[in-house]
Amino acid sequence: MSAKPTVSPMMLQYLSLKQHHPDKLMFYRMGDFYELFFDDASKAAQLLDITLTSRGQYEGEPIKMAGVPFHAAEQYLAKLVKLGESVAIVEQVGEVGASKGPVERKVVRVVTPGTLTDSALLDDKDSNRIVAIAKHKKAWAVAWASLQSGEFRCQLCAADHIVHVLGRLEPAEILIADGHGLDLGVFAKITTRLHAWQVEADAGRGQILRYYQIQDLHGLGLEDEAYLPAVAAAGALLNYIQMTQSQMPQHLEALQCESHSQYIQIDAASRRNLEISQTLSGKAAPTLLSRMDVCATHMGSRLLHQWLHQPLTHKAEIVLRQQAVVALLAHYTWLQDAFKPIADIERITARIAVGSARPRDLAGLRDSLSVLAHLAWPEKCTSELLTNLQTVLPQGLAIAARLQAAILPEPAVWLRDGGVINDGFDAHLDDLRHVQNHGDEFLQALEARERERTGLSTLKVEFNRVHGFYIELSKAQAESAPSDYQRRQTLKNVERYITPELKSFEDKVLTAQDQALALEKKLFDALVLELQDALSLLQQLAKATATLDVLASLAAVAAQDGWVVPQLLDFPCIDIQQGRHPVVAAQVTQFIANDAQLDSKRRLMLLTGPNMGGKSTFMRQTALLVLLAHVGSLVPAQSARIGMVDQIFTRIGASDDLAGNRSTFMVEMSESAYILNHATEKSLVLMDEVGRGTSTFDGLALAQSIAEYLLQKNKSLTLFATHYFELTKLPERFQDAFNMHLNALEQGQDIVFLHQVQAGPASKSYGVAVAKLAGLPNKALHSAQQYLQQLEQQQREQQAQLGLFQEWEPDAQITVDEHVDTTCIPNEYLACIEALQQLQADELTPKAALDVIYQLQALLPQA
Ligand code: ADP
Repeated sequence: MSAKPTVSPMMLQYLSLKQHHPDKLMFYRMGDFYELFFDDASKAAQLLDITLTSRGQYEGEPIKMAGVPFHAAEQYLAKLVKLGESVAIVEQVGEVGASKGPVERKVVRVVTPGTLTDSALLDDKDSNRIVAIAKHKKAWAVAWASLQSGEFRCQLCAADHIVHVLGRLEPAEILIADGHGLDLGVFAKITTRLHAWQVEADAGRGQILRYYQIQDLHGLGLEDEAYLPAVAAAGALLNYIQMTQSQMPQHLEALQCESHSQYIQIDAASRRNLEISQTLSGKAAPTLLSRMDVCATHMGSRLLHQWLHQPLTHKAEIVLRQQAVVALLAHYTWLQDAFKPIADIERITARIAVGSARPRDLAGLRDSLSVLAHLAWPEKCTSELLTNLQTVLPQGLAIAARLQAAILPEPAVWLRDGGVINDGFDAHLDDLRHVQNHGDEFLQALEARERERTGLSTLKVEFNRVHGFYIELSKAQAESAPSDYQRRQTLKNVERYITPELKSFEDKVLTAQDQALALEKKLFDALVLELQDALSLLQQLAKATATLDVLASLAAVAAQDGWVVPQLLDFPCIDIQQGRHPVVAAQVTQFIANDAQLDSKRRLMLLTGPNMGGKSTFMRQTALLVLLAHVGSLVPAQSARIGMVDQIFTRIGASDDLAGNRSTFMVEMSESAYILNHATEKSLVLMDEVGRGTSTFDGLALAQSIAEYLLQKNKSLTLFATHYFELTKLPERFQDAFNMHLNALEQGQDIVFLHQVQAGPASKSYGVAVAKLAGLPNKALHSAQQYLQQLEQQQREQQAQLGLFQEWEPDAQITVDEHVDTTCIPNEYLACIEALQQLQADELTPKAALDVIYQLQALLPQA
C-alpha cells in the first residue's frame, strides 16, 4: 500500500489564497516566475500559448502548472485582460528563510479589465471605465469611475434605459449583483458578479463617507432617499476598487450625480448606427471620431471621444465651446505644436494616485508641466472658455520646479537600477555617489602604483558583477605576483587576485551602491507621496490640457475643410444649406452637398430614391451635423440653423441580433417601439426602410402606421426613408409630411446616381438597373425585367377592379373615435377615414387586413 500523499506547505498556502479568488486566474510568485496551478494552468496555457507542465501531486493527481517570467508578466497580463480575464497577483512579501515554512505571500492586487492603471496594459485612447449597476427597492442606478481620469459619477436610471447609458459609457467592466434579472445584451459578457450584500445602499453609504471622510451625503447632494440606488452602486464601485488595488487611489473626484437631461439621449442602437466611434463592423475607422480626432495628445483623443458621445443640451455651454473653436481657427497649429511633447498627465496622475508611478512618469510630468506653464498665448486668440483654461496652466509651475530639482534630466527606466534622483537633491545620496564615482580614479591610481611596484606590464585592475574587483595578470607573469596577492580566480590565460586594500575598497563601493539604491527608492517614494497631495491640481491641469487639445482639434478640422458655425435655436428646426457628410465626404472624390429643412410645419421628410442613391448617407449626415452642433463643433455646410434637440433616434439597417436570439424583424420592431415610446417634439428621428424585415404588405402597413404615429403623437423631426411608394401619398393627408428624393439618371439600361436631394417623390426605384451595376448576370437581369413588367401590369388591372370596399360590411359595431379631428381633413379623404374608424383591427385575420388595405387605397382619390 502506498502512503497517503501529503500536501506540501507551499501548496497549502496556495490553496488558502486561491479560495478567496476562485473566479480569477492566480499569478503566484515563485522566484523569477509567476506560476499558475490546476485549472488556472490549463486555462492560461491555452489563452497565452505557454507550456503546460506538472509538479508534485494533489489528491493522487499530478498538479498542472504553467508559468510566465516575472519581467515579462505585463505583456501576458495585457493579453489576459483583453480577453476579459481578471488576475490576482500574489507576491512574496516575507523574508526568504525567515520562517520554517514557505516564504509569506499575499495577494497584492487584482488586475481586472476596468481597474487598470499600468500604461502597458491600457489602450492609449481608451477611457477604461468601470461601471456598477444597483437596485434599491424598485429603482435602479448606474455609477461609473475611471481610474485614469479620476472621473466618478452616477445616474438614476430606468431599468430599460440602462443599456443605453452603458452604450454611452462603453465600459471595460460592469459590476452587478447576482440574479439582477436585467437584459444587458452585448454588455452581459463583460459583467463581474457581486454578492447582493456588496451592492447595498447602507454599505455603499459607509464606503462613500469613509472615502471622502465626510459625515453625511448632503455635500455631494445625495442625501435624499431617491438617491439610494446610486449610493449603493457608487459604494460597490469603491469597495471593488479598494479590493483590486494595492493602495486605495485618492484621486477620484467628488461623486457627481448626472441628470438625465444634461446630454442628448442617444440609445445604444442609434449610437451604433451613427458610427460615432465604431463602424457597424466594429472597427475604429472610418468613424466620426476617426475623422475628427487630430488631437496632439492621447488625453485629448479620449476627451473628444467623450464629447462626441455626450452632445450637450445646455445652449450656453455649447456656445462657450463654439467661441473657443472659432478663436482657435487661426491658431490651432501653434497650439497643437506646443502640445505634441506633452505626456499623458492624466494617466501619470492616476499612477501617482495608486503609488505605481515610475521614474520616467515623473520626468514626463516635469517637462510637460513646464511647457504648459510657459505657453506664450497669442494675444488675439481669446474667448471666455480659453481664458479660463489658460489660467490653470501656470499653476503646475511649482510642481515642475520641485520635480526638476528631484529627478535627473534623463532618469533610468526602473527605480531598482538607480540613476533616478537628481544630484544635489539629497546630501547623503551625493556622498554615496561620490564614493562610487570616484572609484575609477582610485582604481587607475592603484593600477599605476601596482605596475610600478611589481614591474609587471600585463597588470590590470578590473571589475565584474560576479567576482567584484580584482587584479589580473597574464599566466606568464603570474609567477612573479607579490606575496600579498591572494588568488581569486584562475582562467586559461590569466590569473586574478585580490589584495586587502582592494577588498576594503570593494566593500566600501558596494555598500555605497546598495545604500544609494535604497536611498533613491526612499526619496522617490516620498516624492510620490508628496505629489499625492497635489492630485486635484494635476487633474485640473490634465483636464485643461485635454480640453484645449480637443478645441484645437475641432478648429483644425473645421479650418481645413471650411466648416461653419451653426446657429443654435430654441425651437425644433433643422435648416442646413449645402451640408456634407463629415466622414463620407472625406472618402469620395466628389461629394454632393445637400440641403435639409425640417421644422414644426415640415416635420416628416419621406425620402425615396434608388438603392445606393444616398438616402442613408443623407439621413446620417443630418443627424451627425445636429450632433456636432451640440458638441460645440462647427459643421460641414454652407450655413446651418439647428434647434436644440433632446434625443436622437435612428432605426437604420437590418441586422440580426444573433447574440440576443432576435430576428431582423424583431430587432427592427423593438427599436421602432422604443422610438415611438420615447421620441418627443424636440427629438430627431431617422427611420430607414422600416418594415423591410417582413412581407411587403405587413411591412407597408407597419411603415405607414409608424410614420403616422410619429406625425401625430411624437411630432418629432423625422427623416423617413422608404421603398414603399404608397407612403409618398402621406403628405396628401398630413400637412407636415413632405416628399424628397435622391435623384438618378438612366442611360439605356445603366444608372448614374446624382446623389442630389430634390423635392417630391422618386419616380421609380431603378432596382434592376442597380442590380446590373452590382454585376447580376444578364440572363437573370433580363428575366427580372420581364417579371417587373408583368407585376406592374397586374397592379394596374387590380386597381381598375377595386370597388370592392363599398360592398364589404364589417360585422362589428361602428365606433367613432372622438379624438380624430376630421375638420382639417379634405373631403375626398373622409370616406377612407370613416372606413378606418369602423374597423375592428383586432378582429381581422392577416389576410382580411391585407384586403382592407387594398380597399382603403382604392378609396383614396387617384393621383
Ligand atoms: P442608399 O441608402 O440610398 O442605398 P447610401 O446612402 O448607402 O445609399 O449611399 C451609397 C453610396 O453612395 C455611398 O456609399 C457613397 O459612397 C455614395 N454617396 C452617397 N451620398 C453621396 C453624396 N451626397 N455625394 C457623393 N457620394 C455619395
